[in-house]
Amino acid sequence: MTKTRKKTIFSFLFCLVTTVGFSQAQDIQIEFIGNCGLHMTDGKSNIYVDFPYKSGAYGYMEFDEKRLGEIEKDAIFIFTHKHADHYSKKNLKKVMKEKGGQKFGVSNIAALEKLGESIEDFGIEVFKTKHTFFGIPFRHYSYLITWYGKRIYLSGDTTNPETIGKIENIDLAFVPYWIVVNAKEQSVEIDAKMFGIYHLHPEQVASAKENWEDVDNIRPLVEQGEKIVLKL
Ligand SMILES: [Zn+2]
Repeated sequence: MTKTRKKTIFSFLFCLVTTVGFSQAQDIQIEFIGNCGLHMTDGKSNIYVDFPYKSGAYGYMEFDEKRLGEIEKDAIFIFTHKHADHYSKKNLKKVMKEKGGQKFGVSNIAALEKLGESIEDFGIEVFKTKHTFFGIPFRHYSYLITWYGKRIYLSGDTTNPETIGKIENIDLAFVPYWIVVNAKEQSVEIDAKMFGIYHLHPEQVASAKENWEDVDNIRPLVEQGEKIVLKL
């Protein structure tokens, strides 16, 4: 083989490798921050769900001030509702002033439904779900994100398993423990390959760990900062 031919083959292979390397998305990595707070990323887009909230609100999980500073630039912030253990106007304002970003939730649901137009291979379906607080109904949404074909359900605070019970083929469902309990009581089957149990109260962490430690498809989110990777 001549030197040039070798060189041609080499550069052809190199091109192939780099093209594949750049065109293929990375896996979806999801970090549990605390309560229902998640950071989802494919290495390009950064999506925060129910974060930043107010640290320690209603006795739920606290987070270090430092975590706010670690929020990525130009991120997308999605909220299920505006209770302080899910949302902090003050913290979000501070973060967006420094880092930019876009905020979505109960007040701009129509814009949220169009989010797929600006993120690669991404779609979001919204579901108005029930959430009462001391007997008062509160505007609340649950979401189904489809990203690179992976279906990720975000239940939020709703207590009613009816909506999630109607959704097929969920890859990863984020639900509070009460959804699991209520679904069982009401004989509602949830079609999910894997569950992330979030919004645990600090006092429930130990028992959740004990209950679900050995269950393959249920992951109690007890350790703030722990990550789930969805392989593409
Ligand atoms: Zn709430």
